[in-house]
Amino acid sequence: MSRINRNCRGCGLCIQYCPTGAVSLINRKAFIDVSRCIKCGTCSSVCPLGAIEFVSYSEIDDLKEKIQNLKHKINRLNKKINELAWRK
Ligand code: SF4
Ligand code: SF4
Repeated sequence: MSRINRNCRGCGLCIQYCPTGAVSLINRKAFIDVSRCIKCGTCSSVCPLGAIEFVSYSEIDDLKEKIQNLKHKINRLNKKINELAWRK
């Protein structure tokens, strides 16, 4: 999975090098059409500003797990808040 970070200045270099025409500019920022991207990494390697990051699926799974854990913590906190509210 790719992600365009804040460094993108819309120079268009990644568009020139993408072999599948997956990159375009939207509001002067690079945008990758995931349905056309073959994940070759060329855009990321030619970007002079390091604006295109590739996130591995294992990183995504880690993030999903962290989000799940945070949701559980939020639920537990909400329960405690409700219990305290009932005691008043
Ligand atoms: S991602 Fe990099 S190469 Fe592509 S438009 Fe932005 S700054 Fe230029
Ligand atoms: S990874 Fe390759 S195919 Fe995908 S947008 Fe970048 S240059 Fe294009």
